[in-house]
Amino acid sequence: MLSRERIVELDKKLLWHPYTPMRRYIDEVDPVVAVEARGFHLIDANGQRLIDANGSWWVSLLGHNHPRLMAALKAQAEKLAHCAFANITHEPAVRLAEQLLPRCGKSYSRLFFSDDGSTAVEAALRMAYQYWQNLGRPEKRRFVSLEHAFHGETVGVASVSGTQVFHKVLGPLLFDCIRLPSPGQAIRGERPWHEVAFEAARTIIDERADEMAAVIVEPLVQGAAGMLMYPAEYLTGLRRLTEERDVLLIDDEVFMGYGRAGSFLAQHQAGIEADIVCLAKGFSGGVLPMAATVVTDRVFDAFLGGPATTLWYGHSFTGNPLGAAVALEVLAVLEDERILENLGPRACALDAGLARISVHPLVRDSRRTGVVAAFTLDPGGESHADYLSDLGWKLSAAARRRGALVRPLGNVVYFVPPLNAAVEDIETLFDITDAALREVF
Ligand SMILES: *Cc1c(COP(=O)(O)O)cnc(C)c1O
Repeated sequence: MLSRERIVELDKKLLWHPYTPMRRYIDEVDPVVAVEARGFHLIDANGQRLIDANGSWWVSLLGHNHPRLMAALKAQAEKLAHCAFANITHEPAVRLAEQLLPRCGKSYSRLFFSDDGSTAVEAALRMAYQYWQNLGRPEKRRFVSLEHAFHGETVGVASVSGTQVFHKVLGPLLFDCIRLPSPGQAIRGERPWHEVAFEAARTIIDERADEMAAVIVEPLVQGAAGMLMYPAEYLTGLRRLTEERDVLLIDDEVFMGYGRAGSFLAQHQAGIEADIVCLAKGFSGGVLPMAATVVTDRVFDAFLGGPATTLWYGHSFTGNPLGAAVALEVLAVLEDERILENLGPRACALDAGLARISVHPLVRDSRRTGVVAAFTLDPGGESHADYLSDLGWKLSAAARRRGALVRPLGNVVYFVPPLNAAVEDIETLFDITDAALREVF
């Protein structure tokens, strides 16, 4: 077994980490060396137990190493770990589709597998783009997305994203898309900002619907933008607009789906059913890279005309049986443990914690939707995250010494506990945050 020191040494010599300024990392950072994970906690090789406040990048839906998910994984691994998914099928895949589609809504009739959030969205974009070609309307080829949107990291989905720090460097490589103002901007004026944003969306969609293939949105919370939250009525309105003007709506539930929003899908709170829904992150309980894109008959039927209308798209691990078996068990755990029915106490604990820390002079705009809580550390300015700010990182360092792993979005600090987190653990997280705030600011 390698010592902790040796692991860090080899890591710094050999590995390249995601979203990480590597010079600073190599010179200054003592990484967490994870050896184990249980529920809400990660355990470092030095023995420290850390609350995993960002759910390992928003995926840990039911806590780490849920025994039933681990058992489902092992059982499937004994039989069939992987096979290709064209002209081949398997039981976990069909059972999962049978269970999942009705939960998404009565309009959904087909499920396409993908590997992660980015490929779930990439598949959605390909479907929407080709849909109009298959229907003989190739002029409908523009995508429409929200300012500050985040839909993942392939070049395709980066094009519909608007997270400046991540994507600015790609510049001309990205395809051009039409932007709608973010409904989550907390600019205070005479009217609620989401209404102003909706009026602008109406004008843009009315004027350019003829060239639009699809509008894509993160429902209720724009995560990477800095946990910008907006009311369900914006989504309801957007569905009405897209329906009236014959534009597809893609609902990117990669972050907010699977109960994170408080309902199984965030779009359920708006009473809508988008044409295409992207699922990942919680989809496999945060255990395996596995995702899905779910569509209505209307979309699917456009691809039934023969080879020229086929969706020529897939990946080597599409439909992976391990992922499907775990994803099926996630649905069973949600049901058997009545996870969505019991979110109330978690939401209350988040509200109470936010209220407690809101007294700090630098804490602004504390907010919550479902099981996502956030606040901004800022003396003023824009409401979307400032990724170049180090305010959040200062708090993060102080929190880690006290036992919580908090990964900020620049100056925005947020918590996404497992949906079944113990209320006491959420309280402890806020105790730590409170103490860290006092220490640093
Ligand atoms: C995280 C995220 C993605 C990308 O998912 P990956 O699994 O990181 O590729 C896409 N859309 C939304 C809304 C996300 O939060």
